[in-house]
Amino acid sequence: MSATTADPLAAAIVKLDPASRRIKRFSALTTMTLPLLGTVAAAWFLWTGNFTTTDLVLFCVMYFVHMGGITIGFHRYLSHKAFRTSPFFEGVMMVTGSMGAQGPLMFWVTTHRRHHRFSDREGDPHSPNLHGRSLRARLRGLWYAHMPWMLSDETSKWTVFAPDVLRDRRLMWYHRTYPTWVIAGVLLPAVLDLAVERTPTAALTGLVFGGLARIFVANQAAWCVGSVCHAIGSRPFDNTDRSANNWPVAAFTFGEGLQNNHHAFPGSYRHGVTWWEPDLSGWLLFGLGKAGVVWDLREPDAAAIARKRAVKAAA
Ligand SMILES: [Zn+2]
Ligand SMILES: [Zn+2]
Repeated sequence: MSATTADPLAAAIVKLDPASRRIKRFSALTTMTLPLLGTVAAAWFLWTGNFTTTDLVLFCVMYFVHMGGITIGFHRYLSHKAFRTSPFFEGVMMVTGSMGAQGPLMFWVTTHRRHHRFSDREGDPHSPNLHGRSLRARLRGLWYAHMPWMLSDETSKWTVFAPDVLRDRRLMWYHRTYPTWVIAGVLLPAVLDLAVERTPTAALTGLVFGGLARIFVANQAAWCVGSVCHAIGSRPFDNTDRSANNWPVAAFTFGEGLQNNHHAFPGSYRHGVTWWEPDLSGWLLFGLGKAGVVWDLREPDAAAIARKRAVKAAA
C-alpha cells in the first residue's frame, strides 16, 4: 500500500473534468508565457537604453507588493493562519496576493496545504523528489516541481483542503475576482509611469517593467521554493521530507526559501528561527504586529525549537 492510499486525504485529490482542465491549462500557460514575453521586451529596452529610473523603481515596488501579497497574504495568513488581522488589511493582502498571478486564492491554498500534507511523498503537487534517483531523473524532477506541475489534470478538493476558506464569503469574493486583480497589477504601473514621466512610451515601459517582467522574475523566484528548496540547502531540522533552507532563494522570496524551518514549524509567522536568517516577511510581520495592524502572531517558543533540534542531533 503506497503512502497516498494509506492517507485518507488521498481521496481528496481528483481528476478535473475536461472543461475545467482546459481553463486551468490556459490560465497556467498564460501565466508562464506572457510575463516571459514581457521580460524579453524589458531586456530589449534595457539593452537599447530606452528606460527611465521610474521604470526600475516601479519594477522594485511592484516586486515588493507581489512578493509581500503572496508570502504574507496567501501563504502565512490564508494557508497557515499564522496571525489575525482586520478585514481591511485582509483585503490588502488578498488583492496584492492575487496580483502575483499565481492562480486564484483557492487554487493556491488547497495546493499548498496538500503540499504540506504529502510533502515529498506521492500526492505532493510539486515535489522534485518523486521522479527517480539518477541525475537525469533528479533534474527532470527539479524542472517539474518548478513549473510544469501547474499543468497537471489533478485538483485538490476544496471541501477537504480548505473548508474554512470556502465558508468565508469575503475571501471567496477575492477568489472570484482574481482576473481583475491580475490585470490591475499589470495596468497600475503603466498608469503610474505615465503620470510621472508624461511621455508616450511611459505607459508601455511601465506595463513591461512593473507588470509583466515583475511577474516573471518574482514568480521564477517563488517557484524555486517548491523546486530548489526541496533539493538543495541545509537541513537543521529532521523533517520527514526533503525541505531545505536555501538563503539565496530566501533573500529573493522574503523568507520563503527557509523551507526546512517552515516545514518544521508551518504555523509560525516567521520562517527564520533566528533573527538573522533572511526572512523579510517575518520581519515585516513583526513590525506590523508592533503597529497593531496584525495580531495573535503564532511562533514556536525556544523550547519547541530546541526539542526539534535535539531530534536532529540524536538522529
Ligand atoms: Zn515545502
Ligand atoms: Zn507553507
